[in-house]
Amino acid sequence: MFTKRIGIDLGTANVIVFEHGKGVVLDEPAVVAIAERDNTVVAVGEEARAMVGRHPGSIQVIRPMRDGVIADYLITEAMLRFFIQRVMGRFNIVRPEVMICVPAGVNSVEQRAVRDAAEAAGARRPAHLIPEPLAAAIGAEIPVGSPRGHMVVDIGGGRTEAAVISLFGIVAAESVRVAGDRLDDAIAQYIKRRYNLAIGERTAEEVKIQIGCAVPMDVELVAGVRGRDQITGLPRTVSLRSSEVTAAIQEHLATIVQTVRRVLERTPPELASDVIDRGIVLTGGGALLRGIDDLILQETGVPVHIAEDPLRCVAKGAGMALDYIDVIERSLPTEEEALIESSSR
Ligand code: ADP
Ligand code: MG
Repeated sequence: MFTKRIGIDLGTANVIVFEHGKGVVLDEPAVVAIAERDNTVVAVGEEARAMVGRHPGSIQVIRPMRDGVIADYLITEAMLRFFIQRVMGRFNIVRPEVMICVPAGVNSVEQRAVRDAAEAAGARRPAHLIPEPLAAAIGAEIPVGSPRGHMVVDIGGGRTEAAVISLFGIVAAESVRVAGDRLDDAIAQYIKRRYNLAIGERTAEEVKIQIGCAVPMDVELVAGVRGRDQITGLPRTVSLRSSEVTAAIQEHLATIVQTVRRVLERTPPELASDVIDRGIVLTGGGALLRGIDDLILQETGVPVHIAEDPLRCVAKGAGMALDYIDVIERSLPTEEEALIESSSR
């Protein structure tokens, strides 16, 4: 029997599986529903996500990867197992060869947790790890093996990671826990303050996707937003303009831009000049926010390109990287480097 080779993007918002030689075979929200009574898993992925904000008290809906590291080990493992089994099908008894991504700069304990979870969930030992920015860059079809500087900025749900890569190695990287989720929170808070209207996190995300923009737009978009009136307690709809969303998320966008600038500042001059020539590539769902490329260009002076299919770059890159496992493993921070990284954070 032949071994399946898969790349897994264990994201904070989405889990995506890319099968080598085939393409994306699974794309589900990173959400698990748990019965509170006995801690059993009730639903995973899309089915669990449908319960967010709608579940009865006896069921808890969890995003186990919320901040970009494993927040709840057992639930992460259960979620991975469910997805790996889904991809493998019921009759395949050969364990798949797995390349799974970890955020850049995670320490060795966190690396081990991801590896262990993947192996416990059914991956063949050893499960391989790849730093997320490297996977994102490979998936975006950036020639990361060349001796030039390449910059990728991945804006996900839980965190933004910016990195400059050369010869398969990460030259400079920064990660910040500000990304899509924080934008959603900021929108919800704004609507609460300005209109006395409480909205859920899914509604906030929909508003962001429908009318959100990183910079002021020439022609404004408008959306009707439904929530619960804080005073009467009854449902009410307000109409919201994109300029209001732009204002509400400004502060978090500034943090993201800061992160990009810090990486540029820490990049050696030769490589930085490559980046200025070739531009920054954006990946992750946040790359789809209107005007995010314009904002980063404005604030850094460096041209910005949005990767093709940005939500899937990391999974695709992890899957493709199975072709050169040795080079990839060398790019992971060693125990010592990870220690320096975490003490300087
Ligand atoms: P992760 O890697 O953390 O799982 P993803 O790269 O899958 O994250 O991106 C998920 C984030 O992208 C979410 O916050 C989601 O709201 C956001 N997102 C998805 N599509 C869009 C869009 N069209 N505009 C703005 N944000 C988007
Ligand atoms: Mg991601």
